[in-house]
Amino acid sequence: MSPNFFSFFECALIWFHTRSKSFGRLSAALFLLCAIGFGAVSASFAAAPAELAGKSTDDLMDEARDLTSAYKYDKAEPLLEEAVRREPKNPRYRFIMAKGLIEQGRFEKAIDQLLEASLLDPSRNVPRFEIAQVYVYQGRFKDAIAVLEQIKKRVLPGSRDSRKADGALSSIAAYYELGDPYSPSYADPDELMPWQRSDFPIKVAIWSDPELKDLKAPFKQAVIDAFNRWKQASGGWLTFQIVDDQRQAKIVCKLVGVMRGNKYEGGGEKLGETLGDYDRKNSDVRGFSRVEIFWDEDSNPSHLRSTVLHEVGHALGLGHSNNTLDVMYPFVHPPYTEVPSRRDASSIRALYKIKS
Ligand SMILES: [Zn+2]
Repeated sequence: MSPNFFSFFECALIWFHTRSKSFGRLSAALFLLCAIGFGAVSASFAAAPAELAGKSTDDLMDEARDLTSAYKYDKAEPLLEEAVRREPKNPRYRFIMAKGLIEQGRFEKAIDQLLEASLLDPSRNVPRFEIAQVYVYQGRFKDAIAVLEQIKKRVLPGSRDSRKADGALSSIAAYYELGDPYSPSYADPDELMPWQRSDFPIKVAIWSDPELKDLKAPFKQAVIDAFNRWKQASGGWLTFQIVDDQRQAKIVCKLVGVMRGNKYEGGGEKLGETLGDYDRKNSDVRGFSRVEIFWDEDSNPSHLRSTVLHEVGHALGLGHSNNTLDVMYPFVHPPYTEVPSRRDASSIRALYKIKS
């Protein structure tokens, strides 16, 4: 990189907290811990489908674990429901079921199961942390703070759970620095640099790491769909053109093996990054954007399209939002939205001074 190649904008979309690729392993660890039920919990599920009736609970849970490791939460769900029906006082089963529900964006049902798990084994804070995380996904920051404060009251100062709660509280505090989550727009034209209108239709090149050949077509489609979504959000204004030659492109979108990318230092995993550069001849305008999506064989396929949509938002000049319903919220989370929100749309229009 030459010294005058000045990067003015760098961004990462990070999977916050537990990354779902560890879910399978996490479940395996949970199976080793023997759970003893406390209190009375009513079973809330209907009778088992016939094909599950002959299987032992251990077999059901093994199968459910394999399915969740492959991100097939919907297929794991009937197995987990049956396990919970048989052992309603087992908090682990409820916790694992809740994790699958969260991945599907079914937050209210997940919270019910987490509350049950928490009542069954009040000594463990894991379900409470998960409830706080779901509240963050829902943008219910005040409720998340209340749960985390409650955890802090239950544990010794300086203990592992106390430090974990402090970490989560400071993450939530950081969202507020991004401004009011309910203002009509989060674009800040003074800080960001849109393209010039004469740059549209903007030339876009797409490249995939040859090692990721199975994802070449889905990635290309994700990029095209992302540009179409932002075009639509801008009222048809932000047009684009796919070109084969990267040297002709103003925006290059790359899918790279994660080993060649950067791991985010500090808890999360960086899923993507967008770099922007000034025009070489005129440093007042944007000249180039490069989107990189980091991928490895364990990556959750649900993340790909929402990550691309987010990074393309940066490539077009947008910054971050602190409303979890916006595509430009900095952490990918269920239900992995693939459509810009109304606020995303008014922000891209504000950035380009497009009248609604
Ligand atoms: Zn970002």
